[in-house]
Amino acid sequence: MSTPIDIASLTLEQLTAFVEQTLGEKPYRARQLYKWVHQRGVTDFAQMTDLSKALRERLIATAELRHVVKDLEQRSSDGTIKYRFKTFDGKLLESVYMPSPDRKTLCVSTQVGCAMGCRFCATGTLGLLRNLSPSEIVAQVHAVNAEVRQNEGIASTLRPLTNLVFMGMGEPLHNFENVKTSLQILQSEEGPNFSHRHLTVSTVGLVPMIERFALETQAKLAISLNASNDETRSQIMPINKKWNIAALMDACRQFPVKQGRRVTFEYVLMEGVNDSDANAAELAALLQGVPAKVNLIQYNQNPGLGFLTTQDNRAEAFRKILERAEVTALIRQNRGRDIAAACGQLANVQPGAAP
Ligand code: SF4
Repeated sequence: MSTPIDIASLTLEQLTAFVEQTLGEKPYRARQLYKWVHQRGVTDFAQMTDLSKALRERLIATAELRHVVKDLEQRSSDGTIKYRFKTFDGKLLESVYMPSPDRKTLCVSTQVGCAMGCRFCATGTLGLLRNLSPSEIVAQVHAVNAEVRQNEGIASTLRPLTNLVFMGMGEPLHNFENVKTSLQILQSEEGPNFSHRHLTVSTVGLVPMIERFALETQAKLAISLNASNDETRSQIMPINKKWNIAALMDACRQFPVKQGRRVTFEYVLMEGVNDSDANAAELAALLQGVPAKVNLIQYNQNPGLGFLTTQDNRAEAFRKILERAEVTALIRQNRGRDIAAACGQLANVQPGAAP
């Protein structure tokens, strides 16, 4: 028996080809099917009541709807909810829902674990277990939309999530093809229909992939920079030994910001590592001539990793140095710290257990 095709991982164009060529059906059937999966979030062919019974049976025999199932949820006092999901093969991944008055943002994972090994990050300690498929990336969005609808009494026809950030577990550009397909699905009018302005993908700096990302997708880019010089960056982010800051900044200068695609630099402030006045001045110099915005994030401590949080007054002094050098910088509010849902804390840890 051949392996069933994961149709939730197909773009509408690919699904149409499957429906016509493999099932011998008219193209409009693909559109119906796609809407069931990517607008209504249905994970069972039997529920697709406008498809004939015979077609549903053929789909059950030849295809599957790969998705993720909620395994655990933790709620923060600030409204953030961390969801842990299980894949079909029992792997665990996490997504973080962050509501605010003007938007409902979901931070999605793109891999189970991560190969990049950033020293300050809990996910990095897991190593890479596997890539997530497009269906598993998109399924996090469908599942959390359903949760929010239910929790907040929102009509089933509406899509509560407004913004997506690809900043959860994994390095998105290390799983580029699947991330690209998931973006196509998430942006499709017959699917969730997100605007590219509301999709941000973060990278530690896989330089050759930044160019492909610029050419082949429309989403915004965030660079996880975290250091103002190569010596420090190489110590905390091994990727810097392959592509250093100069190579990364070159790739950022080529990014098509003129088309309205902004580059954001994420800078996690760690006490005594990268948060001195000299580091701030170095960072300002690095960003001269790059139309950039900097998000300063006070480190969320992970027991056992040995890094400390930069205190509020130091973070503000750092920001002021950037401001004086005319670099736009914001201290980003930390969300979900009390449930280990903040940046760098996703590691599938059981509540109450030490990571
Ligand atoms: S910070 Fe991101 S890229 Fe680095 S190890 Fe953690 S998940 Fe991977």
